[in-house]
Amino acid sequence: MRKILIVGAGQSGLQLALGLQAQGYDVTLMSNRTADEIRSGRVMSTQCMFHTALQHERDLQINFWESQAPKIQGLGVSVAGPESQRVVDWVGKLDGYAQSVDQRLKMAGWMETFAQRGGQLVIHGAAVSDLDYFARTYDLVLVSAGKGELVSMFGRDASRSPYSEPQRALAVAYVHGLGPRPEHPDYDAVRCNLVPGVGELFIMPTLTLSGRADILFWEGVPGGPLDVFQGVKDPAEHLSLTLELMEKFTPWEYARATKVELTDANGTLAGRYAPTVRNPVGRLPGGGLVLGVADVVVANDPITGQGSNSASKCAAAYLESIVEHGDRPFDEEWMRTAFDRYWETAQHVTKWTNAMLGVPPEHVLNLIGAAGQLQPVADRFANGFNDPSDFENFFFDPEKTSAYLASVGGTAA
Ligand SMILES: Cc1cc2nc3c(=O)[nH]c(=O)nc-3n(C[C@H](O)[C@H](O)[C@H](O)COP(=O)(O)OP(=O)(O)OC[C@H]3O[C@@H](n4cnc5c(N)ncnc54)[C@H](O)[C@@H]3O)c2cc1C
Repeated sequence: MRKILIVGAGQSGLQLALGLQAQGYDVTLMSNRTADEIRSGRVMSTQCMFHTALQHERDLQINFWESQAPKIQGLGVSVAGPESQRVVDWVGKLDGYAQSVDQRLKMAGWMETFAQRGGQLVIHGAAVSDLDYFARTYDLVLVSAGKGELVSMFGRDASRSPYSEPQRALAVAYVHGLGPRPEHPDYDAVRCNLVPGVGELFIMPTLTLSGRADILFWEGVPGGPLDVFQGVKDPAEHLSLTLELMEKFTPWEYARATKVELTDANGTLAGRYAPTVRNPVGRLPGGGLVLGVADVVVANDPITGQGSNSASKCAAAYLESIVEHGDRPFDEEWMRTAFDRYWETAQHVTKWTNAMLGVPPEHVLNLIGAAGQLQPVADRFANGFNDPSDFENFFFDPEKTSAYLASVGGTAA
Protein backbone atom coordinates (compact mmCIF):
# COMPACT_ATOMS: atom_id res chain seq x y z
CA MET A 1 0.00 0.00 0.00
CA ARG A 2 1.45 3.37 -1.03
CA LYS A 3 2.10 5.85 1.77
CA ILE A 4 1.13 9.44 1.13
CA LEU A 5 1.52 12.48 3.39
CA ILE A 6 -0.73 15.50 2.88
CA VAL A 7 0.21 18.68 4.74
CA GLY A 8 -2.72 21.08 5.23
CA ALA A 9 -6.38 20.24 5.83
CA GLY A 10 -8.27 22.71 3.64
CA GLN A 11 -10.48 22.16 0.58
CA SER A 12 -7.74 20.54 -1.50
CA GLY A 13 -5.90 18.56 1.20
CA LEU A 14 -9.01 17.04 2.73
CA GLN A 15 -10.71 16.29 -0.58
CA LEU A 16 -7.57 14.55 -1.81
CA ALA A 17 -7.05 12.72 1.50
CA LEU A 18 -10.62 11.39 1.48
CA GLY A 19 -10.35 10.45 -2.21
CA LEU A 20 -7.07 8.55 -1.75
CA GLN A 21 -8.33 6.91 1.42
CA ALA A 22 -11.37 5.59 -0.48
CA GLN A 23 -8.97 4.03 -3.03
CA GLY A 24 -7.04 2.17 -0.32
CA TYR A 25 -3.97 4.40 0.04
CA ASP A 26 -2.27 4.74 3.41
CA VAL A 27 -2.83 8.47 3.97
CA THR A 28 -1.47 10.67 6.75
CA LEU A 29 -2.95 14.16 7.00
CA MET A 30 -1.12 16.87 8.90
CA SER A 31 -3.08 19.87 10.12
CA ASN A 32 -1.97 22.81 12.22
CA ARG A 33 -5.41 22.91 13.86
CA THR A 34 -7.84 20.35 15.31
CA ALA A 35 -11.36 20.03 13.95
CA ASP A 36 -12.71 21.82 17.04
CA GLU A 37 -10.23 24.65 16.64
CA ILE A 38 -11.30 25.09 13.02
CA ARG A 39 -14.99 24.95 13.93
CA SER A 40 -14.65 27.51 16.71
CA GLY A 41 -12.18 29.71 14.77
CA ARG A 42 -12.46 32.61 12.38
CA VAL A 43 -14.21 32.43 9.00
CA MET A 44 -11.70 31.85 6.21
CA SER A 45 -13.43 32.49 2.90
CA THR A 46 -16.75 33.02 1.19
CA GLN A 47 -16.13 29.64 -0.56
CA CYS A 48 -18.84 29.81 -3.22
CA MET A 49 -18.42 26.70 -5.37
CA PHE A 50 -19.94 26.11 -8.77
CA HIS A 51 -21.27 22.95 -10.42
CA THR A 52 -18.09 21.28 -11.70
CA ALA A 53 -16.26 21.69 -8.38
CA LEU A 54 -19.30 20.50 -6.40
CA GLN A 55 -19.55 17.47 -8.68
CA HIS A 56 -16.05 16.37 -7.64
CA GLU A 57 -17.31 16.29 -4.03
CA ARG A 58 -20.42 14.34 -5.09
CA ASP A 59 -18.23 11.84 -6.97
CA LEU A 60 -16.44 11.10 -3.67
CA GLN A 61 -19.74 11.10 -1.76
CA ILE A 62 -18.49 13.79 0.60
CA ASN A 63 -21.18 16.37 -0.27
CA PHE A 64 -22.54 16.05 3.29
CA TRP A 65 -24.12 19.53 3.46
CA GLU A 66 -25.69 19.66 -0.02
CA SER A 67 -29.29 19.29 1.16
CA GLN A 68 -28.94 21.99 3.84
CA ALA A 69 -26.91 24.64 2.00
CA PRO A 70 -28.79 27.26 -0.05
CA LYS A 71 -28.92 26.42 -3.76
CA ILE A 72 -27.48 29.40 -5.63
CA GLN A 73 -29.18 29.39 -9.03
CA GLY A 74 -28.07 32.71 -10.44
CA LEU A 75 -25.29 35.24 -10.53
CA GLY A 76 -26.10 38.92 -10.87
CA VAL A 77 -23.98 41.93 -11.77
CA SER A 78 -24.70 45.56 -10.94
CA VAL A 79 -22.51 48.51 -11.80
CA ALA A 80 -22.66 51.71 -9.76
CA GLY A 81 -22.82 55.05 -11.57
CA PRO A 82 -21.31 58.33 -10.38
CA GLU A 83 -24.38 59.12 -8.20
CA SER A 84 -24.26 55.62 -6.68
CA GLN A 85 -27.21 54.58 -8.85
CA ARG A 86 -27.36 51.22 -10.61
CA VAL A 87 -26.43 51.84 -14.25
CA VAL A 88 -26.20 48.13 -15.07
CA ASP A 89 -28.22 45.39 -13.41
CA TRP A 90 -28.82 41.83 -14.53
CA VAL A 91 -28.95 38.24 -13.28
CA GLY A 92 -27.69 35.25 -15.26
CA LYS A 93 -29.12 31.80 -14.64
CA LEU A 94 -26.62 29.04 -13.74
CA ASP A 95 -27.05 25.71 -15.57
CA GLY A 96 -26.18 23.88 -12.34
CA TYR A 97 -26.51 25.45 -8.91
CA ALA A 98 -23.63 26.76 -6.80
CA GLN A 99 -23.27 26.44 -3.01
CA SER A 100 -21.26 27.94 -0.18
CA VAL A 101 -20.67 25.86 2.96
CA ASP A 102 -18.70 27.69 5.67
CA GLN A 103 -15.22 26.11 5.60
CA ARG A 104 -15.31 25.94 9.40
CA LEU A 105 -18.20 23.49 9.13
CA LYS A 106 -16.92 21.61 6.10
CA MET A 107 -13.24 21.21 6.99
CA ALA A 108 -13.98 20.22 10.59
CA GLY A 109 -16.56 17.66 9.39
CA TRP A 110 -14.32 16.23 6.66
CA MET A 111 -11.40 15.97 9.09
CA GLU A 112 -13.52 13.97 11.53
CA THR A 113 -14.73 11.72 8.70
CA PHE A 114 -11.14 11.10 7.59
CA ALA A 115 -10.16 10.04 11.13
CA GLN A 116 -13.33 7.93 11.61
CA ARG A 117 -12.52 6.05 8.39
CA GLY A 118 -9.13 5.09 9.83
CA GLY A 119 -6.97 7.89 8.41
CA GLN A 120 -3.98 9.07 10.41
CA LEU A 121 -4.50 12.64 11.49
CA VAL A 122 -1.48 14.43 12.94
CA ILE A 123 -2.05 17.80 14.58
CA HIS A 124 1.16 19.66 13.94
CA GLY A 125 2.18 22.81 12.08
CA ALA A 126 4.74 21.31 9.69
CA ALA A 127 8.06 23.08 9.11
CA VAL A 128 10.43 22.54 6.20
CA SER A 129 12.69 20.46 8.49
CA ASP A 130 9.77 18.08 9.21
CA LEU A 131 9.15 17.65 5.51
CA ASP A 132 12.82 16.89 4.94
CA TYR A 133 12.43 13.88 7.21
CA PHE A 134 9.01 12.80 5.91
CA ALA A 135 10.05 12.96 2.25
CA ARG A 136 12.29 9.97 3.03
CA THR A 137 9.60 7.92 4.74
CA TYR A 138 6.60 8.51 2.43
CA ASP A 139 6.18 7.60 -1.25
CA LEU A 140 4.76 11.07 -1.89
CA VAL A 141 4.47 14.31 0.11
CA LEU A 142 1.86 16.86 -1.00
CA VAL A 143 1.79 20.37 0.43
CA SER A 144 -1.75 21.79 0.54
CA ALA A 145 -1.11 24.40 3.24
CA GLY A 146 -2.79 27.32 1.48
CA LYS A 147 -1.07 30.68 1.56
CA GLY A 148 0.91 29.94 4.76
CA GLU A 149 4.67 30.02 5.28
CA LEU A 150 5.38 26.73 3.52
CA VAL A 151 4.86 28.44 0.14
CA SER A 152 8.41 29.76 0.52
CA MET A 153 9.59 26.31 -0.64
CA PHE A 154 8.01 26.90 -4.04
CA GLY A 155 9.61 29.59 -6.21
CA ARG A 156 7.36 32.29 -7.71
CA ASP A 157 6.77 31.85 -11.44
CA ALA A 158 7.15 35.45 -12.61
CA SER A 159 6.04 34.60 -16.17
CA ARG A 160 2.63 33.55 -14.83
CA SER A 161 2.35 36.16 -12.03
CA PRO A 162 1.76 39.64 -13.45
CA TYR A 163 1.22 41.23 -10.01
CA SER A 164 3.76 41.37 -7.21
CA GLU A 165 1.50 43.28 -4.79
CA PRO A 166 -2.03 42.64 -3.49
CA GLN A 167 -4.63 44.10 -5.87
CA ARG A 168 -7.52 44.22 -3.42
CA ALA A 169 -8.04 44.69 0.34
CA LEU A 170 -10.53 42.01 1.47
CA ALA A 171 -13.21 42.41 4.15
CA VAL A 172 -15.79 39.71 4.89
CA ALA A 173 -18.78 39.72 7.29
CA TYR A 174 -21.15 36.77 7.85
CA VAL A 175 -24.63 38.01 8.79
CA HIS A 176 -28.14 36.91 9.66
CA GLY A 177 -31.16 39.07 8.84
CA LEU A 178 -30.38 40.23 5.29
CA GLY A 179 -33.54 40.93 3.27
CA PRO A 180 -34.21 39.15 -0.07
CA ARG A 181 -32.80 40.42 -3.33
CA PRO A 182 -35.21 43.00 -4.73
CA GLU A 183 -35.17 41.73 -8.30
CA HIS A 184 -35.66 37.94 -8.21
CA PRO A 185 -36.57 36.91 -4.69
CA ASP A 186 -37.82 33.48 -5.83
CA TYR A 187 -34.32 31.98 -6.08
CA ASP A 188 -30.89 32.51 -4.50
CA ALA A 189 -28.11 34.25 -6.40
CA VAL A 190 -24.64 35.65 -5.88
CA ARG A 191 -24.67 39.44 -6.30
CA CYS A 192 -21.57 41.15 -7.73
CA ASN A 193 -21.68 44.92 -7.37
CA LEU A 194 -18.94 46.73 -9.25
CA VAL A 195 -18.01 50.23 -8.11
CA PRO A 196 -15.63 51.51 -10.82
CA GLY A 197 -12.25 52.62 -9.51
CA VAL A 198 -13.25 51.77 -5.92
CA GLY A 199 -13.83 48.02 -5.69
CA GLU A 200 -16.54 45.37 -5.55
CA LEU A 201 -19.18 44.18 -3.11
CA PHE A 202 -20.15 40.50 -3.30
CA ILE A 203 -23.16 39.15 -1.47
CA MET A 204 -24.01 35.47 -1.31
CA PRO A 205 -25.98 33.06 0.81
CA THR A 206 -24.09 30.43 2.79
CA LEU A 207 -24.59 27.61 5.26
CA THR A 208 -22.74 28.49 8.45
CA LEU A 209 -22.56 27.03 11.97
CA SER A 210 -25.87 28.67 12.92
CA GLY A 211 -27.69 27.71 9.72
CA ARG A 212 -28.45 29.81 6.65
CA ALA A 213 -26.71 33.19 6.52
CA ASP A 214 -25.45 35.75 4.00
CA ILE A 215 -21.94 37.03 3.40
CA LEU A 216 -21.12 40.68 2.74
CA PHE A 217 -17.71 40.81 1.07
CA TRP A 218 -15.96 44.05 0.09
CA GLU A 219 -12.94 43.94 -2.22
CA GLY A 220 -11.31 47.37 -2.16
CA VAL A 221 -8.66 48.87 -4.41
CA PRO A 222 -5.64 49.30 -2.08
CA GLY A 223 -5.36 52.84 -0.72
CA GLY A 224 -8.93 53.67 -1.84
CA PRO A 225 -12.07 54.40 0.19
CA LEU A 226 -12.77 50.69 0.90
CA ASP A 227 -9.29 50.03 2.26
CA VAL A 228 -10.25 50.81 5.86
CA PHE A 229 -10.49 47.41 7.56
CA GLN A 230 -6.84 46.76 8.33
CA GLY A 231 -6.29 46.84 12.08
CA VAL A 232 -10.02 46.78 12.94
CA LYS A 233 -10.21 44.19 15.75
CA ASP A 234 -13.78 44.69 16.96
CA PRO A 235 -16.22 42.62 14.84
CA ALA A 236 -19.05 45.12 15.52
CA GLU A 237 -16.89 47.93 14.15
CA HIS A 238 -16.03 45.78 11.10
CA LEU A 239 -19.75 45.29 10.43
CA SER A 240 -20.61 48.97 10.84
CA LEU A 241 -17.83 49.94 8.43
CA THR A 242 -19.15 47.35 5.95
CA LEU A 243 -22.64 48.83 6.19
CA GLU A 244 -21.48 52.47 6.00
CA LEU A 245 -19.65 51.68 2.76
CA MET A 246 -22.71 49.88 1.42
CA GLU A 247 -24.89 52.90 2.17
CA LYS A 248 -22.43 55.16 0.34
CA PHE A 249 -21.51 53.06 -2.70
CA THR A 250 -24.25 50.44 -3.15
CA PRO A 251 -27.40 51.89 -1.55
CA TRP A 252 -29.62 49.27 -3.28
CA GLU A 253 -27.85 46.57 -1.27
CA TYR A 254 -27.77 48.64 1.91
CA ALA A 255 -31.58 48.96 1.75
CA ARG A 256 -31.93 45.25 2.59
CA ALA A 257 -29.10 45.19 5.14
CA THR A 258 -30.41 47.60 7.77
CA LYS A 259 -31.37 44.79 10.20
CA VAL A 260 -28.36 42.48 9.86
CA GLU A 261 -26.39 41.05 12.77
CA LEU A 262 -23.11 39.13 12.72
CA THR A 263 -23.58 35.36 12.80
CA ASP A 264 -20.92 35.05 15.53
CA ALA A 265 -17.94 36.85 17.01
CA ASN A 266 -15.62 35.07 14.53
CA GLY A 267 -17.76 35.96 11.52
CA THR A 268 -15.44 38.66 10.14
CA LEU A 269 -12.18 38.50 8.20
CA ALA A 270 -9.86 41.13 6.72
CA GLY A 271 -6.62 40.72 4.77
CA ARG A 272 -4.88 40.89 1.40
CA TYR A 273 -2.41 38.90 -0.67
CA ALA A 274 -0.67 39.13 -4.02
CA PRO A 275 -2.00 36.70 -6.65
CA THR A 276 0.87 34.29 -7.33
CA VAL A 277 1.63 31.23 -9.46
CA ARG A 278 4.53 29.14 -8.18
CA ASN A 279 6.84 26.41 -9.35
CA PRO A 280 4.88 23.25 -8.40
CA VAL A 281 7.85 21.23 -7.17
CA GLY A 282 9.54 22.14 -3.88
CA ARG A 283 13.08 20.90 -3.26
CA LEU A 284 13.90 20.24 0.38
CA PRO A 285 17.31 20.96 1.93
CA GLY A 286 17.99 17.20 2.07
CA GLY A 287 17.21 16.79 -1.65
CA GLY A 288 13.66 15.36 -1.31
CA LEU A 289 10.85 16.68 -3.50
CA VAL A 290 7.32 17.75 -2.55
CA LEU A 291 4.40 18.66 -4.80
CA GLY A 292 2.39 21.83 -4.13
CA VAL A 293 -1.42 21.69 -4.26
CA ALA A 294 -4.07 24.37 -5.02
CA ASP A 295 -3.41 27.78 -3.36
CA VAL A 296 0.21 26.80 -2.65
CA VAL A 297 0.92 26.79 -6.36
CA VAL A 298 -1.86 28.95 -7.87
CA ALA A 299 -3.30 31.62 -5.57
CA ASN A 300 -5.71 33.95 -7.38
CA ASP A 301 -7.48 36.96 -5.90
CA PRO A 302 -11.01 36.00 -4.74
CA ILE A 303 -12.60 38.64 -7.02
CA THR A 304 -13.90 35.84 -9.27
CA GLY A 305 -14.68 33.40 -6.44
CA GLN A 306 -12.50 30.63 -7.88
CA GLY A 307 -10.01 29.47 -5.20
CA SER A 308 -12.13 26.72 -3.62
CA ASN A 309 -13.35 25.68 -7.06
CA SER A 310 -9.75 25.44 -8.22
CA ALA A 311 -8.77 23.58 -5.03
CA SER A 312 -11.47 21.00 -5.78
CA LYS A 313 -10.38 20.72 -9.42
CA CYS A 314 -6.71 20.41 -8.39
CA ALA A 315 -7.51 17.68 -5.85
CA ALA A 316 -9.56 15.79 -8.48
CA ALA A 317 -6.78 16.08 -11.10
CA TYR A 318 -4.04 14.97 -8.68
CA LEU A 319 -6.17 12.06 -7.46
CA GLU A 320 -6.42 10.77 -11.04
CA SER A 321 -2.71 11.32 -11.67
CA ILE A 322 -1.73 9.45 -8.49
CA VAL A 323 -4.02 6.49 -9.13
CA GLU A 324 -3.04 6.20 -12.81
CA HIS A 325 0.65 6.14 -11.84
CA GLY A 326 0.24 2.86 -9.99
CA ASP A 327 3.42 1.66 -8.25
CA ARG A 328 5.89 3.77 -10.19
CA PRO A 329 7.97 6.36 -8.29
CA PHE A 330 6.55 9.84 -7.81
CA ASP A 331 9.57 11.59 -9.31
CA GLU A 332 9.99 15.15 -10.49
CA GLU A 333 8.77 14.36 -13.99
CA TRP A 334 5.56 12.87 -12.62
CA MET A 335 5.07 15.91 -10.35
CA ARG A 336 5.43 18.35 -13.24
CA THR A 337 3.07 16.33 -15.41
CA ALA A 338 0.47 16.20 -12.60
CA PHE A 339 0.68 19.98 -12.20
CA ASP A 340 0.48 20.57 -15.98
CA ARG A 341 -2.75 18.61 -16.02
CA TYR A 342 -4.18 20.90 -13.33
CA TRP A 343 -2.80 23.99 -15.11
CA GLU A 344 -4.94 23.06 -18.15
CA THR A 345 -7.92 24.38 -16.16
CA ALA A 346 -6.11 26.72 -13.73
CA GLN A 347 -4.54 28.82 -16.50
CA HIS A 348 -7.99 30.04 -17.58
CA VAL A 349 -8.92 30.95 -14.01
CA THR A 350 -5.69 32.89 -13.56
CA LYS A 351 -5.97 34.75 -16.85
CA TRP A 352 -9.60 35.76 -16.28
CA THR A 353 -9.12 36.65 -12.60
CA ASN A 354 -6.09 38.82 -13.30
CA ALA A 355 -8.04 40.54 -16.09
CA MET A 356 -10.94 41.29 -13.70
CA LEU A 357 -8.50 42.98 -11.30
CA GLY A 358 -7.47 45.53 -13.93
CA VAL A 359 -9.42 48.43 -15.43
CA PRO A 360 -11.93 46.81 -17.81
CA PRO A 361 -11.39 47.63 -21.50
CA GLU A 362 -14.26 49.11 -23.51
CA HIS A 363 -15.34 45.84 -25.13
CA VAL A 364 -15.70 44.21 -21.68
CA LEU A 365 -17.80 47.17 -20.46
CA ASN A 366 -19.95 46.73 -23.57
CA LEU A 367 -20.31 43.02 -22.88
CA ILE A 368 -21.37 43.59 -19.26
CA GLY A 369 -23.77 46.31 -20.38
CA ALA A 370 -25.22 44.13 -23.16
CA ALA A 371 -26.01 41.37 -20.65
CA GLY A 372 -28.67 43.74 -19.23
CA GLN A 373 -30.57 43.59 -22.53
CA LEU A 374 -29.67 40.12 -23.74
CA GLN A 375 -30.44 37.27 -21.33
CA PRO A 376 -28.23 34.74 -23.22
CA VAL A 377 -25.23 37.01 -22.56
CA ALA A 378 -26.06 37.25 -18.85
CA ASP A 379 -26.47 33.46 -18.66
CA ARG A 380 -23.21 32.77 -20.49
CA PHE A 381 -21.28 35.20 -18.28
CA ALA A 382 -22.72 33.60 -15.12
CA ASN A 383 -21.84 30.09 -16.32
CA GLY A 384 -18.29 31.25 -17.01
CA PHE A 385 -17.80 31.17 -13.24
CA ASN A 386 -18.26 27.41 -13.47
CA ASP A 387 -16.00 27.01 -16.51
CA PRO A 388 -13.75 30.04 -17.00
CA SER A 389 -12.19 28.52 -20.14
CA ASP A 390 -15.31 29.72 -21.98
CA PHE A 391 -14.20 33.35 -21.52
CA GLU A 392 -11.58 32.65 -24.21
CA ASN A 393 -14.47 32.55 -26.69
CA PHE A 394 -16.04 35.94 -26.01
CA PHE A 395 -14.31 38.01 -23.31
CA PHE A 396 -10.63 38.81 -23.95
CA ASP A 397 -10.52 39.64 -27.64
CA PRO A 398 -12.67 42.63 -28.80
CA GLU A 399 -13.34 40.94 -32.17
CA LYS A 400 -14.61 37.77 -30.52
CA THR A 401 -16.79 39.88 -28.20
CA SER A 402 -18.33 41.72 -31.18
CA ALA A 403 -18.87 38.49 -33.09
CA TYR A 404 -20.51 36.87 -30.08
CA LEU A 405 -22.78 39.85 -29.39
CA ALA A 406 -23.79 39.98 -33.06
CA SER A 407 -24.62 36.24 -32.94
CA VAL A 408 -27.14 36.81 -30.15
CA GLY A 409 -28.68 39.89 -31.73
CA GLY A 410 -26.68 42.58 -29.93
CA THR A 411 -24.19 45.21 -31.01
CA ALA A 412 -20.63 45.85 -29.94
CA ALA A 413 -21.26 49.43 -28.85
C1 LIG B 1 -11.96 36.56 1.58
C2 LIG B 1 -11.90 35.36 0.70
C3 LIG B 1 -13.02 34.98 -0.04
C4 LIG B 1 -12.97 33.87 -0.87
N1 LIG B 1 -14.09 33.52 -1.58
C5 LIG B 1 -14.06 32.44 -2.41
C6 LIG B 1 -15.23 32.04 -3.13
O1 LIG B 1 -16.31 32.61 -2.99
N2 LIG B 1 -15.12 30.96 -3.93
C7 LIG B 1 -13.96 30.26 -4.06
O2 LIG B 1 -13.93 29.28 -4.81
N3 LIG B 1 -12.86 30.61 -3.38
C8 LIG B 1 -12.87 31.68 -2.55
N4 LIG B 1 -11.76 32.02 -1.85
C9 LIG B 1 -10.52 31.24 -2.00
C10 LIG B 1 -10.57 29.92 -1.26
O3 LIG B 1 -11.01 30.07 0.05
C11 LIG B 1 -9.16 29.29 -1.27
O4 LIG B 1 -8.59 29.42 -2.53
C12 LIG B 1 -9.24 27.80 -0.89
O5 LIG B 1 -9.69 27.64 0.41
C13 LIG B 1 -7.85 27.20 -1.04
O6 LIG B 1 -7.86 25.86 -0.63
P1 LIG B 1 -6.52 25.15 -0.22
O7 LIG B 1 -6.85 23.75 0.05
O8 LIG B 1 -5.47 25.44 -1.22
O9 LIG B 1 -6.01 25.92 1.09
P2 LIG B 1 -6.74 26.33 2.43
O10 LIG B 1 -8.21 26.18 2.32
O11 LIG B 1 -6.18 27.66 2.80
O12 LIG B 1 -6.23 25.24 3.49
C14 LIG B 1 -4.91 25.21 3.94
C15 LIG B 1 -4.88 24.53 5.30
O13 LIG B 1 -3.53 24.27 5.67
C16 LIG B 1 -3.33 24.64 7.01
N5 LIG B 1 -1.90 24.93 7.19
C17 LIG B 1 -1.21 26.05 6.87
N6 LIG B 1 0.09 25.92 7.17
C18 LIG B 1 0.25 24.68 7.70
C19 LIG B 1 1.37 23.95 8.19
N7 LIG B 1 2.59 24.48 8.19
N8 LIG B 1 1.17 22.70 8.67
C20 LIG B 1 -0.07 22.14 8.67
N9 LIG B 1 -1.17 22.78 8.21
C21 LIG B 1 -1.01 24.03 7.73
C22 LIG B 1 -4.24 25.84 7.19
O14 LIG B 1 -4.54 26.09 8.54
C23 LIG B 1 -5.46 25.39 6.41
O15 LIG B 1 -6.31 24.60 7.20
C24 LIG B 1 -11.78 33.12 -0.98
C25 LIG B 1 -10.65 33.48 -0.22
C26 LIG B 1 -10.71 34.58 0.60
C27 LIG B 1 -9.50 34.95 1.41
